Amino acid sequence: MEDRLVTRFAPSPTGYLHRGHAFSALTAHDQAQRRGGRFLVRIEDIDATRCQPRFDAAILEDLAWLGLDWERPVRRQSEHLGDYQDALARLRDMGLLYRCFRTRAETLAGIGAAPHVSQRADSPGPPPPDIEAERLAAGEPFAWRLSLSTARRRLGDFASLEFDERGSGPAGETGWIAADPAAAGDIIVARKDLGVSYHLAVVVDDALQGVTEVTRGEDLFAATAVQRLLQVLLGLPAPAYRHHRLILRPDGKRFAKRDTAETLRDLRGRGVTADELREELGIGG
Ligand code: GLU
Repeated sequence: MEDRLVTRFAPSPTGYLHRGHAFSALTAHDQAQRRGGRFLVRIEDIDATRCQPRFDAAILEDLAWLGLDWERPVRRQSEHLGDYQDALARLRDMGLLYRCFRTRAETLAGIGAAPHVSQRADSPGPPPPDIEAERLAAGEPFAWRLSLSTARRRLGDFASLEFDERGSGPAGETGWIAADPAAAGDIIVARKDLGVSYHLAVVVDDALQGVTEVTRGEDLFAATAVQRLLQVLLGLPAPAYRHHRLILRPDGKRFAKRDTAETLRDLRGRGVTADELREELGIGG
């Protein structure tokens, strides 16, 4: 028998929730309810420069307006930085990480990216020991990257990264998916400025919270490969995944933070009810 379902909605409090978030939260919540499972909310606020307490509070208010109920206490990543440091230390002790002193401009130049592209495959490799020693002595900040080649040597191959997709990816991928982390390059597991990264925090939290099915938008489908890699390296259980379609604006574009007239609080202010929103999103109660 399948273990009891545990799923989650994991927003970052960098703005107000919009329809896309509502769709994601409702999907996760309804799955849990239908299958006698548990629904968790996790506030992903490691990036203190972008996250704000007022958005954190607004998220919970909006979720309550949607008619959702979730377990308390809510996990806030900013309160668990030690858990991520422990995981980082384990990866480092396994010899899987190297320091990267690059500036953002150097990184962008290295991948030939326009400044608005934040992350693409990039594997600069460890700095030569003498340069590394010099930069460390000078107190320069650095990120930690995961060496894909060392990870591959350790695992033999990436067959163990397969995952169970219960929803679908952007190209309709569903069922058992072979994950290939190579496309992401040597990912950053600890940012220079934060000492942790999104990928690392997510896998640690999903494991600590006993999440058995990750519910999220298909824009994060590609992130699953590197997250599976981190799970296997850290010996964490493999959750199943339920990626779902994205809710787009009428012009087919994605909602952006600047679409302030389309936030859930704005809909609420205009007298739209949660049931009407459910109907519009095609997700029955
Ligand atoms: N915090 C992420 C976001 O708001 C979602 C992370 C996840 O579901 O894995 O996009």
